[in-house]
Amino acid sequence: MSLDKEKNILIVGAGLCGSLLAIRLGQLGFNVCLTEKRSDIRTTTVDGGRSINLALSDRGLKALRMVGLEHKIREICIPMYGRMLHFENGETKLSPYSGRQDEYINSVSRNDLNRILIEEADIHPNVEILFDHDCIDVNIDESKAQFTFNGKERIIDTDIIIGTDGAGSIVRKELFDKRNDEKLSIEFLDHGYKELEIPPGESGGYQIEKNALHIWPRGDYMIIALPNMDGSFTVTMFNAYQGANSFEEIDQTGFRKYIEDGFSDLMPFIEDLEKSYHENPVGKLGTVKCYPWQDEGKTLIMGDAAHAIVPFYGQGMNASFEDVTIFNEVLDQGHENWESLFQAFQTRRHPSAVAIADLAVDNFYEMRDHVADEDFIKKRQLEMKLEQEYPAYYSKYSLVTFKEDLPYEEAKAKGRAQDEYLLKLVKEKALSEIDLNKLVETLTQ
Ligand SMILES: Cc1cc2nc3c(=O)[nH]c(=O)nc-3n(C[C@H](O)[C@H](O)[C@H](O)COP(=O)(O)OP(=O)(O)OC[C@H]3O[C@@H](n4cnc5c(N)ncnc54)[C@H](O)[C@@H]3O)c2cc1C
Repeated sequence: MSLDKEKNILIVGAGLCGSLLAIRLGQLGFNVCLTEKRSDIRTTTVDGGRSINLALSDRGLKALRMVGLEHKIREICIPMYGRMLHFENGETKLSPYSGRQDEYINSVSRNDLNRILIEEADIHPNVEILFDHDCIDVNIDESKAQFTFNGKERIIDTDIIIGTDGAGSIVRKELFDKRNDEKLSIEFLDHGYKELEIPPGESGGYQIEKNALHIWPRGDYMIIALPNMDGSFTVTMFNAYQGANSFEEIDQTGFRKYIEDGFSDLMPFIEDLEKSYHENPVGKLGTVKCYPWQDEGKTLIMGDAAHAIVPFYGQGMNASFEDVTIFNEVLDQGHENWESLFQAFQTRRHPSAVAIADLAVDNFYEMRDHVADEDFIKKRQLEMKLEQEYPAYYSKYSLVTFKEDLPYEEAKAKGRAQDEYLLKLVKEKALSEIDLNKLVETLTQ
């Protein structure tokens, strides 16, 4: 017996994960209906016209390669070779992501990426896409989903529902309402984020280094900036909601003063930053952990709906794309029915989702508190040396970001152990005293 390919699959949410999944299932000949609450991204402005960008790395690129889109997406990517650290005294320092020349991450526009995925999904006659369909209820037992469309209610009766409707997923909510004995946790950080903009220079060029991810680490708060294709940068500030240097305090004492006091090298862009500070909302940051992700082979959740994470490893989208890679691999195993397929998928994937969620929280503290710390900088220098001279050695960051075939849980275990060892070593010894041969032997044992 083999999997029944005639079943109708309803995907709720045509964001990054849902549209990639629709492409893959479309390529494999399944009947797919992809629904999205927003209007068609190809013909409307989303996010209030703001450019929002994401760091795309090897795991995400691997998934795009699987559907034949890697080259097309690389054309809209800007390579970022390292973190450009901006210190309080205005000095900067580039900290490369890897000691190997060919390893870097990419800044890509969320809208352009999503638009290309939708265009590609739409090519397949067996993939129907319904925009302006806001899913308001899901009947898990009967595989029916209720939508509002043009002010009216519409019910779609299907065989299988896959929820890729993001961190606030309605499919997840209904799944866990049904299975109230199961585990669901949603934890918010006491920090939120706000997106600002540095526009292109007068001649259209970049006003700060183009090929880097900029970070202004300041202990309990920080700012980052990623380049866009048009010469602008999307700047994101991360602050607590309340207390010292919080959004509440900035609102009281003034944004201009906040930048002047802690980020003097951003003052040349203050007019634009200030304008966007007042126009844009504060977003929440949270981690969703839940299990199981499926019910009776009729409902499944994927992407942020199953495992939203804080954005500090730049891996949320990459992990959501990797879900599709793994789902494809599990499909290839030749399961006899959908329940066995969904179970195999969640068993294989859930440990990875938990691992990247934990790593992302680690990196929040690393980026915020430690990137400017002397021991941390020394450790990064040592890791760069190791990666340059011993290409088989991968730092924790490289294991997560550039080892596309290594499950996140293995990257986490190995990376954390290495980190602990190296940090202890750089505290005890000068870099010149460290025997690299011996060290690599110890680390790769
Ligand atoms: C500030 C920030 C920065 C980030 N930076 C990075 C980064 O650099 N690199 C990285 O890899 N990840 C990053 N991420 C994470 C990344 O954005 C998510 O992991 C990724 O978008 C998840 O994709 P998804 O398709 O699962 O969910 P989403 O992209 O959220 O898509 C969900 C889709 O479902 C639709 N939808 C929602 N509800 C309904 C409904 N009821 N009915 C119909 N449709 C619905 C939504 O409109 C949306 O289109 C960042 C996240 C944040 C918040």
